Amino acid sequence: MPKCIACKEKWTWKQSMRSFVTFSRFISCPYCEKKQMFTSMTRISMLLLVFVPYITMPYVINDEVKSSAVAIGIAIYLLTLLLLLPFLMDFREIPKHLQKYAQK
Ligand SMILES: [Zn+2]
Repeated sequence: MPKCIACKEKWTWKQSMRSFVTFSRFISCPYCEKKQMFTSMTRISMLLLVFVPYITMPYVINDEVKSSAVAIGIAIYLLTLLLLLPFLMDFREIPKHLQKYAQK
């Protein structure tokens, strides 16, 4: 689970998911309201994990039986991913040149 960079409180799964689904660049801590952002590693790994099935899909689907199995596989994969995402999240301080955008 991600930890706040300011107060070091651990976020719950629900709080982490909420910060993820808003897709905002800056995330306020639910405890101390300190704004922070995901590390670039976090962003990259989340993007990769979500898009890899879509990229590989066209290559594995060549008949109907296979494609429905793949569809189920991907559904399970995405569901598991959703459950595990908060464990991959990591926050960092907002760099100085971005702080003016975080004020709002
Ligand atoms: Zn905090």
